[in-house]
Amino acid sequence: MVNINSVDSASSQCPCGSLQTYVQCCEPYHLNYSVADTPECLMRSRYSAFVLRHFTYLILTHHPDYLQGLTEQQLAQGNTQWLGLEVVSSKQQSDHAEVTFKAWFIDNKQIDAIYECSSFVKQQNRWFYTQGQQMTTRLPGRNDPCICNSGKKFKQCCAKRLS
Ligand SMILES: [Zn+2]
Ligand SMILES: [Zn+2]
Repeated sequence: MVNINSVDSASSQCPCGSLQTYVQCCEPYHLNYSVADTPECLMRSRYSAFVLRHFTYLILTHHPDYLQGLTEQQLAQGNTQWLGLEVVSSKQQSDHAEVTFKAWFIDNKQIDAIYECSSFVKQQNRWFYTQGQQMTTRLPGRNDPCICNSGKKFKQCCAKRLS
């Protein structure tokens, strides 16, 4: 069986949509070789970790005071098929930051997004996710660029996967 969530070669593009390779982009964070130095960078690497099912990383970068009992096992129960990440805005004020993003996914032939304004805090030189405020979003127009960063129009790309 082919695992659609795997990145199996050094030339694979990073799932976070940076247009860099995974090795140059989010992998060093996932392997703990380096620390995400901006909140947007952390947010992107957390999205990639969801795609690639690096649940340990998701727990480690989630501020312990805000985990509310969340475990790797709970995260592993999810089976979301992610399509792409769109960072809408990010702002930072000293050790606090907010990043608003849309994380697109397909479920049961329906495309939807987690549209969230996430909050982050910096402690001991590391950024942590604290909590997010969810919003609702609409699908892109048929002629808009596709959500998966393919460079194609939505109607010529992921919209074809709708029933
Ligand atoms: Zn990345
Ligand atoms: Zn697409």
